[in-house]
This record gives sequence, structure tokens and C-alpha cells, in this order.
Amino acid sequence: MERLSREKVKPLAEQYGETDEVPQEIIDAMKEAGIFRILFPEQYGGDGVSAVKLCIAREALSRFSVVADVTLAMQGLGGYPIVVAGDKEQKEKYLPLLAGGDLLSTYALTEPGAGSDVASMESTAVKDGDCYILNGTKRFISNGFRADMGVVFAKTDRDRGNRGISAFIYTKGMEGLSIRKRIKLMALHDLVELQFTDCRVPATNMLGAENGGFKTAMQTLDLLRMSVGASALGTARAALDLAVRFSLRRKTFGNPISSYQGVSFKLADMATELDAARLLVYRAADLMDKGAGRVTKESSMAKYYATEMAGRVVDMAVQIHGGIGVTRGMDVERLFREARAPRVYEGTTEIQKMVIANLILREAKEREGDQQS
Ligand SMILES: Cc1cc2nc3c(=O)[nH]c(=O)nc-3n(C[C@H](O)[C@H](O)[C@H](O)COP(=O)(O)OP(=O)(O)OC[C@H]3O[C@@H](n4cnc5c(N)ncnc54)[C@H](O)[C@@H]3O)c2cc1C
Repeated sequence: MERLSREKVKPLAEQYGETDEVPQEIIDAMKEAGIFRILFPEQYGGDGVSAVKLCIAREALSRFSVVADVTLAMQGLGGYPIVVAGDKEQKEKYLPLLAGGDLLSTYALTEPGAGSDVASMESTAVKDGDCYILNGTKRFISNGFRADMGVVFAKTDRDRGNRGISAFIYTKGMEGLSIRKRIKLMALHDLVELQFTDCRVPATNMLGAENGGFKTAMQTLDLLRMSVGASALGTARAALDLAVRFSLRRKTFGNPISSYQGVSFKLADMATELDAARLLVYRAADLMDKGAGRVTKESSMAKYYATEMAGRVVDMAVQIHGGIGVTRGMDVERLFREARAPRVYEGTTEIQKMVIANLILREAKEREGDQQS
């Protein structure tokens, strides 16, 4: 993985520079390495779903290319709902192509009025014969321009909050679906808005049971959230490497800045925080691979801590670089911009804390209940 990232992906990322396209050559390198297979069961052309392998891959890729990293993540976000909720036909039709990287996927949950508060989504899907008619706007959809298909969530029962949401597979080119490239992020990212206007989606594209979409969405996030933490590890590691190198070379007052405690203690903090985050990420991934069931709390902890850690570490790396660190075109400046969005997407830091706190309190109440009975 390290070799693929360093020898294939890194030169391509440098060649393409700051474009928010997803270059086909990067996808081809990832396909050739069979990287998408780690997200899918063997029965459907994968190597078996492995959270640990996904985290290792994202940690390696994000050091050199946010585009490659996000592409792998989106393949999981769009593909894993089919793994957990798809029927046999859906799995046979889509999973082998996703595992081979011959189809690219995305995940469309967020709306202009519904990010953290998923239940307030306004997109609707109304049954009409053998189709559902979808209407609504999905915002901030990663790789949405490049993706061939995706999973979209809409209300099939407007009065039931989270329990009225269903998941559907959509494909690019469906009549009534328009893809608008209107959002420009501070860092590299193919980010679009999807507009569904009387879009007829075959009923056979519904994933899982009607009104069961929220559970599918959250099960998918259990796997992918910890991997956002892994991606943050790669970003932080790249920043630490740059800071160490720079601190050994740069001299002030006749000495390398690494000889000053004010700098070297920053390096110590960065390395320690990075390792602490790494332990959280791989604990969550290991638990998932061992079949521990839902690992929501551990995954949220890993995502929350690792992405916040990357923000702090990259900031320290910029500081160690002094003036040149805030100069456009420097790797450390790019990392500073790249480290920001992961603290927001797939659930903000505040939402992760809510999830963790709710689960801790629920466990405590259950323990109290057990003692009383
Ligand atoms: C780069 C990028 C890529 C993305 N990719 C995708 C994608 O592929 N698919 C997709 O569906 N979505 C995607 N998103 C959307 C992302 O998941 C949402 O932006 C995120 O969940 C936050 O939602 P919001 O922007 O509506 O903010 P809001 O929910 O409006 O939150 C605004 C602020 O209020 C805080 N807040 C909200 N509620 C509470 C509360 N109860 N307690 C405390 N604080 C609270 C939040 O933490 C945040 O700081 C992406 C976003 C970005 C930036």
C-alpha cells in the first residue's frame, strides 16, 4: 500500500496538481493494485470487507493524494450500503463492478437544510407503479461528478422522521437527475449538488426495506467514520515528516531550530498525538473485523479524535515552517487546508461527541436497570 501510494499515486497527484477532477490515471493505478476489493465480499469479486485494510489504505493514500483517498472512501460509502442491505440481484449487478473499480460510487444523504439533522431531510420518494418518483436536492456530494452511480436517501414517509427514510441506488444519466458542480472547496475535492426532479427510480433499486434507510446509512458510517480517522492519520503523518525535516535544516541564531525546546517539544506532541489517534483508529477497525457487531462508539471516537488531532498537528507543522509555511504552493499549506473538512464531513466533531455521550449514558442506564432488577 505504501509502495502504491508513494510510487504510483504520488507522482500522478503531483502531475495533476490542484484540480478538483478525479484523474482517470489515478483510478487506473488504484484498480490495477486491486485496492477497491478490500471493501467487498469475496463472493462478489472482493477480498472480503476489511476495516483494518481500509484504514491502512486510507492512511497511506491521504499522505500523498486526497483525491485517491476520497475515491476509495466514496467507493465504500456507496458500495457498503449494497453489501449490508442489497438483495442478491443488486449485489450481483453492482458489487463485482465496484470491487474492480469499473464503476465508481457516491453517497447522497446531505441536503441544504439537513446535514447533522438527517431526519429533517425534505427529499421524497413516492411509489408509482414499479417505480419511485424522487424529488429533492442533495448537497456536498463527494466525487458526485465523477461517480457512475450512488446511494441516495429520501423520505418514503414524511411523518416518521428517521424511520421514514429509504435508500435507493441511482445511476448517472437517469432522467430527472441533474448534477451541478457548484461548490468549490478550500482543498481539492470533486463536490457537487444533485437535483432530482420527478426522477423515476425503479422499485428494484430500493436498498433494504422501505423506511429502513436510516439504519443502512448509519451502519455504513460505522465502517467509514473510523476510516476518516485513518485518512487524518496520513495527513498528520505527512505534516510531521515535513516538520521534522524542516526543523533539522532551518537555522536561526546559528543553530537548527530542532535544537530549541520550543520546537522539539512540538514534534514530541505531534508524534504522541498521532500515535494515540492511531491506536483509536485501529482498535475500532480491529473490533469491526473481529465481528464485534456495531462499533458505533469506537468508530466515532476514532473519527473525532483523529481528525481534531490532524488539525492540531498540521497547525504545529505550519508554525514550525514559519513564514514559508503559510505560502501558497507549499505542501504543508496544502495539508493545512486538507485537514479542515474531515472535521465536518461524515458527522461533525460535535455530532461524534453526541453519539459517544449518548451511548455511554445508555450503557450506564442499562447497567443501573440490571442492578435494580
Ligand atoms: C468536503 C465535504 C464533503 C462531503 N461529502 C458528503 C457526501 O459525499 N455525501 C453526503 O451526504 N454529505 C457530504 N458532506 C456533508 C457533510 O456530511 C455535512 O456538511 C455535515 O454532516 C454537517 O452538516 P451541515 O453542513 O448541514 O452543518 P449543520 O448540521 O448545519 O451544523 C452546523 C454546525 O452546528 C453544529 N451542530 C449541529 N447540531 C448540533 C447539536 N445538536 N449539538 C451541537 N452542535 C451541533 C455542527 O457540529 C456544526 O458545527 C460533505 C461535506 C463536506 C464539507
